[in-house]
Amino acid sequence: MIIMKTNATSEQVAKIVEEVRRYGLRADVSKGRYRTIIGLVGDEHKIPFDNLSVLPGVKEAAMVEVPYKLISKEYSRFAEEGTEHTIVKVKDIEIGGDKPVFIAGPCAVESHQQLLRIAQDASEAGAHILRGGVFKPRSSVHSFQGLGALGEKEARDALAWLREAGERFNLATVTEVRGESQVELAAEYADILQIGSRNMYNQDLLAKAARTGKPILFKRHFGASIEEFLSFAEYIAAEGNKDIILCERGVLPTGKGKNYIRYTLDLAAVPVLQKETYLPVIVDPSHAAGRRDLIFNMSCAAIAVGASGLMIEMHYNPTEAIVDAKQAVTPDELKQIIYTCKEIDKLIKSASYGKD
Ligand code: PEP
Ligand code: MN
Repeated sequence: MIIMKTNATSEQVAKIVEEVRRYGLRADVSKGRYRTIIGLVGDEHKIPFDNLSVLPGVKEAAMVEVPYKLISKEYSRFAEEGTEHTIVKVKDIEIGGDKPVFIAGPCAVESHQQLLRIAQDASEAGAHILRGGVFKPRSSVHSFQGLGALGEKEARDALAWLREAGERFNLATVTEVRGESQVELAAEYADILQIGSRNMYNQDLLAKAARTGKPILFKRHFGASIEEFLSFAEYIAAEGNKDIILCERGVLPTGKGKNYIRYTLDLAAVPVLQKETYLPVIVDPSHAAGRRDLIFNMSCAAIAVGASGLMIEMHYNPTEAIVDAKQAVTPDELKQIIYTCKEIDKLIKSASYGKD
């Protein structure tokens, strides 16, 4: 990382960028309010930091050991400005802003009628963003893989329904991309691209999705450490896309816990991530719990630990859902969750303790 002096000229910055490139690395230039910071992308061991540190305009040049320096609170320009975290803006929605954001919708897009009805329910319950999977990651090849698996026409139709439902009910939209071949297609229709937990380690998919410039909803793998989660989010940032929303969705349960819950929601990860990175962090209680009767409690808890939003699976008739029927809440339950979470959020934000 290279920190420029406050009065460094743009020519001096350009010279450093050129030097960095000469060593085969990429330079990520962040112009802060007070000074410019140049993050290096690539093998920093190739860089003679001592030589760079004496070039005109350079205040400090040093190797950063954390593997996620581009999104790190400590090393990013945002730390300098004292910003708690960045806001990912989607339409007029601010993820990471003053108020929690609620994403709701079916696990999978099943039909035009199903999606429109759920979108209306989600909007009436107070949600801001509509979710719906067109390309579903499934544990069994014999299960429904999403309408996208039926062919390009079916994928386009389902994505177009998502867009239509979003437009009609004033909701932004998010859908998962499971493979590189789906990225461009999904980006044509959805406002946010989701990278699912099973793909957290898929560097090529991360890079391709990042290059669309769309915000990325990035889910933690159920076996990943926090450092790994952030290290892979860094692959998105390294493509120049800083609109990343981190999503905690549960880790593998140990012992007898797995008889009762699908995953263990790692709520401590929320404040820990917020201390490490400026990116907004949301929680998906649905895939973690795997049970409708736990979603209310887990949602409240997630907002209480400071999550910037929630992603919840909802269906007007959960038993009818083709995928993840057991964890979908009803529209009325969603409404109660959103109401209560907003109250909890206000209470938590008014407290002065626990902020550092
Ligand atoms: C999903 O959100 O649709 C999903 C499959 O979740 P996860 O990747 O967390 O399992
Ligand atoms: Mn699901």
